[in-house]
Amino acid sequence: MSGKMDRRAFLKGLALSGAGLALGKEALGFQALVPIEDPLKHYPYRSWEDLYKNRWTWDKVTPSTHSVNCTGSCRWMVYVKNGVVMREEQASDFGQLNPDIPTFNPRGCQKGACYSSDYLYGPNRLRYPMMRVGKRGEGKWKRISWKEALETIAKKMVNVIQEHGPDTINYFTPIPAMSYVRWSSGNRLANFTGGVSLTFYDWYCDLLPAEPMTFGLQGDVAETADFFNSRYVIIWASRLTDTRIPDAHFVTEARYNGTKLVGIFSDYCPTAIKMDQHVPVKAGTDGAMALAMCHVVIKEKLYDEAYIKEQTDLPLLIRLDNKKFLREKDLKEGGKDGILYAWDRVKNAPVAMPGTWDDPPEKELAAPLFLGRNTFGYKRGTLELSSKGIDPLLEGRFKVKLADGREVEVATVFSLTKNELDKYTPEWAQGVTGVSAKVISQIAIEFAETARRTGGKARIILGMGVNHWFNNDTAIRPMILFVALTGTEGKDGGGITYYVGQWKPVAVGGLGKLAFPLGGDNHRFQNTTLWTYVHSEIYDAIDADERERQGIKRPIRDYIKESVSKGWIPLYPRDGKEPKIFFIWNGNWTNQAKGGDYVLRNMFPKLDLIINLNIRLDTSAMYADIVLPVAGHYEKNDLSSTEEHTFMHVLTPAIEPLYECKTEWQIFKELAKKLEEAAKREGLTRFYDKQFGIWRDLSNLADQYTQGGKLGSEKEAAQFILDNSALPGISSPTQGMKFDNLVKKAERFKDNWTSKMEEGVPYGPFKRYVVEKKPWPTFTGRMQFYIDHDWFIEMGEHLLTYKPPLEVDKYPLRYSTPHNRWFIHSTWSEHQTIMRLMRGGQIVYMNPEDMAERGIKDNDWVKIYNQHGHFVCRVKIYPSSPRGFLTNYFGHEKFSDVREGFGYQSPVPIRIKPTQLVNYYHLVFKPNYWGPTGSQRDVKVEVERYTKAYPI
Ligand code: SF4
Repeated sequence: MSGKMDRRAFLKGLALSGAGLALGKEALGFQALVPIEDPLKHYPYRSWEDLYKNRWTWDKVTPSTHSVNCTGSCRWMVYVKNGVVMREEQASDFGQLNPDIPTFNPRGCQKGACYSSDYLYGPNRLRYPMMRVGKRGEGKWKRISWKEALETIAKKMVNVIQEHGPDTINYFTPIPAMSYVRWSSGNRLANFTGGVSLTFYDWYCDLLPAEPMTFGLQGDVAETADFFNSRYVIIWASRLTDTRIPDAHFVTEARYNGTKLVGIFSDYCPTAIKMDQHVPVKAGTDGAMALAMCHVVIKEKLYDEAYIKEQTDLPLLIRLDNKKFLREKDLKEGGKDGILYAWDRVKNAPVAMPGTWDDPPEKELAAPLFLGRNTFGYKRGTLELSSKGIDPLLEGRFKVKLADGREVEVATVFSLTKNELDKYTPEWAQGVTGVSAKVISQIAIEFAETARRTGGKARIILGMGVNHWFNNDTAIRPMILFVALTGTEGKDGGGITYYVGQWKPVAVGGLGKLAFPLGGDNHRFQNTTLWTYVHSEIYDAIDADERERQGIKRPIRDYIKESVSKGWIPLYPRDGKEPKIFFIWNGNWTNQAKGGDYVLRNMFPKLDLIINLNIRLDTSAMYADIVLPVAGHYEKNDLSSTEEHTFMHVLTPAIEPLYECKTEWQIFKELAKKLEEAAKREGLTRFYDKQFGIWRDLSNLADQYTQGGKLGSEKEAAQFILDNSALPGISSPTQGMKFDNLVKKAERFKDNWTSKMEEGVPYGPFKRYVVEKKPWPTFTGRMQFYIDHDWFIEMGEHLLTYKPPLEVDKYPLRYSTPHNRWFIHSTWSEHQTIMRLMRGGQIVYMNPEDMAERGIKDNDWVKIYNQHGHFVCRVKIYPSSPRGFLTNYFGHEKFSDVREGFGYQSPVPIRIKPTQLVNYYHLVFKPNYWGPTGSQRDVKVEVERYTKAYPI
């Protein structure tokens, strides 16, 4: 616009122009609008236009994903220009399983979509190795070279092995499915050098102990497309819409298709609002509701009798004199321990049931780590009873004569369970859960009738919240009984399906061989809950009164001592030693450590060296002694899968590792070389590992690590996994897969854990047991609802029962730390946009009446405390919360506006449940399969307005 024309003249001209329309051109105010030149003619910076136009051009596109344990394992295409990642786009190549099922595509979430802008090039990115110069956690660092970093670590490792033994060196990394090679890298070094691999699934309390107890396996779930097959869905504490964003659409689509959605949530959360019916159960009482639902199904005779006779231990006989299963050795001299009986209707006598522990399979097969035993060597049809002329009675009490001549009474598990369930009426449950008896009956009946009408297409989608309680097993065992009674387990669209992190590495065979080349039998695995409990000196957090209320007969430490001394559960280092070195990678252990204050106070001082491999300076890095910068998700090759879909796909390097970053494979490989050199210098070229009776050779460690150079790169390591994933009785899920082909397109697994893969059919678990009728991997060979271990009997948990939440902390508010709505664990928690959603830092959510009672206003600083610790942050008013409840979405970093105290885990201790320390047939310690879970929901706190140091 002409510079001579001011705004006033311009507006005047416009006003005249209306009148001028009829007066001829000369008379028009348009004369005032003098012709103007191209305004950009002399503008010097025209290249920005090209930048804009060229925004949609790029040099290359490569696939990758985000390994953040989000469970999504979405495939993203990464666009690179001039060596810079310019954007990411969701890939759409997982394909539709069949035209009647909605597609997986496109999948992703807004959290993952900002990876490149936030972390890849973000300000918190680690650029070079650093060594701590101040106190731990103080944030004072000096830059060091890779050479100095690795040589320092290697020398310390050799010295520690010499002085304290290899079992004082510890390795923590979680979730292999999100990046198979990255997970294997450090564990492989631990395997050669005798180090200790710490578990994660039980530690996070994501492992459902109820599943190994009942199923004899770590777990297995349907892929999410199978939600669409369900005609009735109970979503039990699973916040699908904000924590399973790529897959929540399957239930929405099922609902459009006529499926009823019932949501059981203690608060009116974002998923609850999408339900046909919201059932607000009192937090921690879910088990009571499940027991009452079982009560209704049995009382109304809505159970599938043929199914439970074949697939469960309900027809098996229990001796009433000692509460143990009736065994062959009870009936015959020299009889076996693991041959168990039912009462046959026709013979009117006990009959040995096929597929129990000591009924020999056709082929003995070694059990992979996720199974209590391997039953795939049994014949198809083993559990089928009619062809064997067996018709077990489901109910009854009988007399049997024992080998020693005594006569004892026996009863079926069904009879005993029914008797126990008699007291768990819907009316009783109403008093405990706050849910009306009518609603409990209505849901149980609707579910069972839908299952009957549709051949089992009714399911429970279970979230991790129920499992995060001390009594997680007693709460979830009745849920499994409910889906078993209704005959839905092992059916398309049915059963219990839980989502608790990206826990399932389908190609576990190859993973195990890469991570543990000397074999799992020569490796030290450690349950992290117990390790942290002991070395952080948390000890008994459950007093005598509460133990009595819970049926726990002795102090917890007595159970631990007995379990460790009998070799039921390992505790490293042995012989009362203390841990000395701690590697943490690909997981924010320190941030998420329950008993955080105890860890800092008691365990970290015992550690001579904490090494953290990281892409960013998170809480674990903050408290480390040496920080090693690693390549991010778009800077390296790896494999990714999840239990939510059945595709294997890859991470690939869109760009070279930034700054001085290296991949984890490269770092541990180079550390192996430095360790070899240091070992030679220090005169420790090999040592005898007495525990396993093997020599560990450090003289050629680098060569061992790379298998003579064959596994030099991540890509070669990934291909090794793809080539070696077969397991005894299960053909390779990745058979014929080539890494280079996976770069072009994701491929569906060829086989899977407990069911075969079927073309066009969403994967559903347990068909090897339910359809092929091979025994379940439990003592009884069936879904097992009765555990006759002495400790279970002592605590009254041999049968299903109700155990209330712990009442140890003498404070009024239940403290809950669920998944965050905005970020994934701690990832993205410090991002600016996310911070804005959270008012700039950590906040706790509180019921308005609870706040008013304490004189607390929205956005006040508050102190949250109990006898274990405290922290200070801001509070947000949350009318959706029930009273007496405080929610703190977990994962906040220590530095995200937490004042005083360690952080959100400060009030959370570790509490160990004795029954999870036992050794019982299929319940033996295996990493991430069986061991005490680090429960975190039974905590109680008080909150008070905090005015000491911060303006409010
Ligand atoms: Fe990335 Fe996970 Fe989100 Fe998918 S769900 S986009 S993999 S962060």
